[in-house]
Amino acid sequence: RAHPEAGRLREGLTPMPDVVALDGRRGEGGGQILRSALALSLATGRPVRVEAIRAGRKQPGLLRQHLTAVRLAAAIGHAYVTGDALGSSELFFEPQGCRAGTHHVSVGTAGSTSLVAQAVLPALLFADGPTELTIEGGTHAPSAPPFEFLDRAWARVLRDHGAHLDLHLERPGFFPAGGGRVRIRVEPWRAPRPLRLLERGRGTNTEAVAIIARLPRHVAERELARVAHHLGWTEAQRRIEAPTHAPGPGNALVLELQHEYVTEVCVAFGARGVRAEQVADAACRAAESWMAATAPVGRYLADQLMLPLALGAGGTYRATELSLHSRTNMEVIDAFLPGAVTTEQVEGHGVEVTVRGRLA
Ligand code: ATP
Repeated sequence: RAHPEAGRLREGLTPMPDVVALDGRRGEGGGQILRSALALSLATGRPVRVEAIRAGRKQPGLLRQHLTAVRLAAAIGHAYVTGDALGSSELFFEPQGCRAGTHHVSVGTAGSTSLVAQAVLPALLFADGPTELTIEGGTHAPSAPPFEFLDRAWARVLRDHGAHLDLHLERPGFFPAGGGRVRIRVEPWRAPRPLRLLERGRGTNTEAVAIIARLPRHVAERELARVAHHLGWTEAQRRIEAPTHAPGPGNALVLELQHEYVTEVCVAFGARGVRAEQVADAACRAAESWMAATAPVGRYLADQLMLPLALGAGGTYRATELSLHSRTNMEVIDAFLPGAVTTEQVEGHGVEVTVRGRLA
């Protein structure tokens, strides 16, 4: 159908005034600009145009993970979309609401199921009813939150503040085969409570899980032995998960550090030519670095918490550091909700992030 904006442009008029224009070259220059734009557009109802999508990446434009997120967001928002094609570097997205329902999407590669989910979950928390999502793709893929992070670190904070978010890993999918499957049920977050996350509270549990699929078991055993060596975790705190139904070979070492008020999840992935010990060393280094700091929110959670808070009741949290991802996300949120996120360095305790919520 003819779109009003297309008509305006043909007539030489300025674009529709309420279209949010984003430049994909800004800051991090990656897929997160697009995902946050989709969630914000869905939740606020404002159309958005993103140009130079993922201009900062080696292979710019929409990859399968991003395109899947666009298609899912479009289905949820009954949106008018242009530019939704593989490799596309410009997208126009105009939703007509954010409706609850049931959706099943498949990335088709090891593109991250968690990242697809994050393009819509912040908006679905404020939809008109419960939504069930089934997302297929990579559940444990590099440079993205593994399933355990999405569930136990990110969703946990929101659940602790009244959100109903149930996540279930049906089967893991690794790089490069993908084929994992995640089911998510999200209900409207009625009466969200403002977040106040300044401390970790006492440690309640730690667990190391070596996930291994279609690879020799000794890989997982060596990883866990290394965790015992570096972190001193006992046998009861270490286990092997060997799913038989994962489509491809794969290995991830997931370290979970549960505290009273927050959970940190550190991960490292096995890859051809990388020794099991090196994988374990990388995960342990990440865990040690979080343990050495005092702020509750790690660098990844810091960028992922801003959006649901800005769309909800807001709040304050202390982060160990503010990554370029976080700063870029602040800019994207600012384009829809000006001045929503502010930060302040706290001597010896990282950065305090304050989010003014839309519903506060
Ligand atoms: P590209 O960078 O190729 O554009 P992308 O769409 O995969 O791609 P980014 O913009 O880099 O994404 O965003 C990656 C997201 O994944 C960020 O929100 C970051 O916090 C998160 N992330 C990356 N690694 C981890 C990890 N180990 N644990 C938790 N979250 C992670």
